[in-house]
Amino acid sequence: MKCHECRYLMFDYIDKKLSEPVIGEMEKHMEECPSCAERMAKLNRQQEEEKPSGLFWYLLMPSGGFKRFFFVGAIFTFILVLALISFQLKKPLFRLF
Ligand SMILES: [Zn+2]
Repeated sequence: MKCHECRYLMFDYIDKKLSEPVIGEMEKHMEECPSCAERMAKLNRQQEEEKPSGLFWYLLMPSGGFKRFFFVGAIFTFILVLALISFQLKKPLFRLF
């Protein structure tokens, strides 16, 4: 395998989209080629940093499915209504009565 092939395939390698023989060839190439190995290490590090983490992303990621989406929506609406009610009690926004 040549360097440009190896670099072209790196993103798929990180996403684990490659077949066993191609992965084997890439790993063999990276053992022999320090510049590709270093590039791969750098890419891996970047990937780790970009991976969203924490409760905020856990709740908002679309991969959570619609159940979670509606759950979060309900909580947000509840908080918004509470905020509006407390504001209304302090300084009336609307004339309800
Ligand atoms: Zn190389």
